[in-house]
Amino acid sequence: MSAHANHEQEAPRTVVVIGGGQAAGWVVKTLRKEGFAGRLVMIADETHPPYERPPLSKAVLAGDADIETVRVVKHDELASLNVEAWQPDCATSIDRAARVVKTRSGREVQYDRLAIATGGAARRLPQQMVKTSHITYLRTLDEAVALGERLRRSRRVLVVGGGWIGLEVAATARKLGVEVTVVEGAGRLCGRSVPPAVSDFLLALHRANGVDVRLGASLFALDDLPRNGDGGSAADDHNDGIRATFSDGSALDADFAVAGIGLAPHTALAEAAGLAVADGVVVDEFGATDDPNVFACGDVANHPNAWLKRRVRLESWANAQNQAIAAAKAMLGVRTPYAEIPWFWSDQYDVNLQILGDIPAAAEPIVRGSLDEKRATLFFVEHGHLRGAIAINTPRELKLARKWMSQGRPVDPSALTDTSKALA
Ligand code: NAP
Repeated sequence: MSAHANHEQEAPRTVVVIGGGQAAGWVVKTLRKEGFAGRLVMIADETHPPYERPPLSKAVLAGDADIETVRVVKHDELASLNVEAWQPDCATSIDRAARVVKTRSGREVQYDRLAIATGGAARRLPQQMVKTSHITYLRTLDEAVALGERLRRSRRVLVVGGGWIGLEVAATARKLGVEVTVVEGAGRLCGRSVPPAVSDFLLALHRANGVDVRLGASLFALDDLPRNGDGGSAADDHNDGIRATFSDGSALDADFAVAGIGLAPHTALAEAAGLAVADGVVVDEFGATDDPNVFACGDVANHPNAWLKRRVRLESWANAQNQAIAAAKAMLGVRTPYAEIPWFWSDQYDVNLQILGDIPAAAEPIVRGSLDEKRATLFFVEHGHLRGAIAINTPRELKLARKWMSQGRPVDPSALTDTSKALA
């Protein structure tokens, strides 16, 4: 292990963690695992102990998840880890000179080390566009449970945004027998994270599952349908549904809308404290900010990624866990750089899709297998080496790709696409 203790700083006696998501959960778990025996305060605005988000748009929404399985830290574990969980509360200021965090409820705590793991919030549609209360977002466990219940008593949902939330919600809604329309402003689905061939694949997948996908759709307004109007799709006692109108004059009715239009990282607190913020709180490979007592990790942190060779803010399960572990260790002076290959997955219908490494938007990956048959691996090769891979129902091939990428092993593109021979 390349870790070494940093003797420049005194060992912390009090560590404060702002946030209560997956990254915060891994910070508190790691601190205790590494032997930190001092005071540990976690300030979070949700009442739940830290949990994982991937099941929220899938099993939790479908109503077939045991909520306990999504916890990073169980209720009783907070006590056994001796974490003072200030929940629900919200940090309102960080005084870096005095090393004091204040909260909305009027509490304050002095820290020796501070972790900012504030994550972010679902980006909202502009207020002037939304003239109905029948719009929902999906970020938290409570929102997922409520959205699932609502889907089960609805006939038709409008999904705004053809990104990961939008597509996973669409797939789950179809599973529940709900009619779905997805409207995406861009010309293709998940345009920021996958190459055009995969966007086309996702489009075909959703259409084959009965989703009405509309690309290049410029949403103009969301209104309530008039009461007892002829929308005909009343879902509950309180509304007759909504009407979406688009810039081209067309309209569409649904029982309610759910928007998944990206994440707005919670950086305001760090910014007000004078920390560097540039698409996230700027940290080094150990999760440290310019202030040696302040760290940041998870969705809110912008770190130099060794694989991508650029700074990046990653919104992924793997990053929330592993960057947080590296940051927690560094808070105790054990400096192990976070240098993992970015990895991300999604499950939709009968498709498991995984993305590993670097896939530039303009990349033209080589394809092994068949997208039409929903079994393919796309490789992005640069200078004879794998830079990234996308696996569609081929998790074993992704595992191999990860191994070769970690080893820096050269690859032969023609061998990669030759399905007459096993990839191994
Ligand atoms: P996202 O993946 O960034 O997708 C947002 C989508 O909404 C983009 O396609 C965006 O298009 C589109 N959009 C933005 N404004 C719009 C508008 N006014 N009308 C229509 N479309 C609009 O974000 P997300 O789906 O909201 O997900 C939020 C976070 O949760 C992300 O970090 C995501 O990675 C994460 N998540 C991950 C998983 C997973 O790991 N499987 C599942 C769900 C969510 P443009 O790009 O053109 O702006």
